[in-house]
Amino acid sequence: MPKIPDEVVKRVIDRAKIEDVVGDFVTLRKAGVNLTGLCPFHDDRTDGNFIVRPSTIPARRGGNTYHCFVCMRRGGGGGPVDFLMKHERLSFPDAIRWLGKKYSEPVDDVPVNYTPPPPRPKPAPLPVLEIPRPYVGRTMEIATERTVVFIYWLRGLPWDDEQKARLQQTLWMYCVGGWKDGRVVFWQIDHNGIPRAAKLMKYLPDGHRDKQAHPGWIYNQDGCRQQLDPDKHEIMKPLFGSHLLSRYPKAVINIVESEKTAIIMANYYGNHDAQIWMACGGLKFLQLDSLQPLIDQGRTIWLWPDKDGRDDWQEVCDKLGYDKCRVYTHFFDTCWTPADGDKADIADIAIRMMRTGEGPRKDTGTKSRGQVRDSLAKNQATCPPDSSTAKPDNVTDEEWANHLAIMKAIGDYEIIHPGSEPFMPEDEMADPRLRWMRDTLRHIKTNHKLYGNQKK
Ligand SMILES: [Zn+2]
Repeated sequence: MPKIPDEVVKRVIDRAKIEDVVGDFVTLRKAGVNLTGLCPFHDDRTDGNFIVRPSTIPARRGGNTYHCFVCMRRGGGGGPVDFLMKHERLSFPDAIRWLGKKYSEPVDDVPVNYTPPPPRPKPAPLPVLEIPRPYVGRTMEIATERTVVFIYWLRGLPWDDEQKARLQQTLWMYCVGGWKDGRVVFWQIDHNGIPRAAKLMKYLPDGHRDKQAHPGWIYNQDGCRQQLDPDKHEIMKPLFGSHLLSRYPKAVINIVESEKTAIIMANYYGNHDAQIWMACGGLKFLQLDSLQPLIDQGRTIWLWPDKDGRDDWQEVCDKLGYDKCRVYTHFFDTCWTPADGDKADIADIAIRMMRTGEGPRKDTGTKSRGQVRDSLAKNQATCPPDSSTAKPDNVTDEEWANHLAIMKAIGDYEIIHPGSEPFMPEDEMADPRLRWMRDTLRHIKTNHKLYGNQKK
């Protein structure tokens, strides 16, 4: 039998997508970035053991592979060809021929038994991931300028006195959290007040993102993954700042690309009753369905793309066909200068205006970064830590164990403020961070508890 030329093998392998190939034999459903279904190689009754990392994920991060936690303990899993060889008991050349037929890549004249599988019914969706609120409070407790580089940088910006005074509240308002390794945690809490996702980002002291480090998601972090079990859930990613909608029912919604920009602009203007700032996480992440809650509430939406993103967002706006949504370019048109560069986002321009004293805000002078930092330290809201580790009387053993597990997963810091009531009396809320979170979230009508186990 003639050998298949290497370049043909390569061409077929390059075309083959694991999600298509496995999907021909197994009903797959979305689970986070992965897909899951019942493992065809063992007697599997639950989703979540058999994981397909789709071809959209880069190969160096395990894309285009499958594995099963149960039957692949001793190594195994693999790519599309491995799956086919094992599942259809094909030799390597026959697996290549099979894939050649599937993807209409000519291989050779040797016949192979390929019948396209019938279309599969759509599987029922998985439950949407809900992250218990104690995770939010926990990350907020460890978000200080000493622990989180982003907050350190943010405090060092040349805010005027008013802006400086409200910066801490702005951070609380967005429930900005910290991680034990210095990353910032941007919570994505939906309009009903349910935490759905949290993005962990590494910033450099100059305020730029560390491009070497990919953004992480809280449900993939060690310790959290086991508890949150993302593979058995659908992951929803509401717009950053969605939890503010019901607190500010009349505000115009400004949507920007990055969380950093949303926080800076929110603090820059500080008129939350009139306008709130939300972020979609990037130019390409402005999705029609994430805008639906805003449309349901009849809100006015202004889209603030970065300079190079106007066309993309205009297209989204056109597709939306919602007459209260428009692309807002006035700020750019009036404030952008060539020195800002074509990649500038609105926060870059706002910061430049703060530094040079142009625009609506006055400069804080020519203080050095250190002086600014010192003066900030004096004005900083103080958040006395409560290092009590005793179980309060009103908390059940189960709730307490759950609380301790979360605290342990998020960081090796002292344990503070457990409790089980939805909103604790004022005197128990000694920590202003938690008080702020409570105030932010109490405008949301929900049965979920601030602390303790969530009841469905
Ligand atoms: Zn298996």
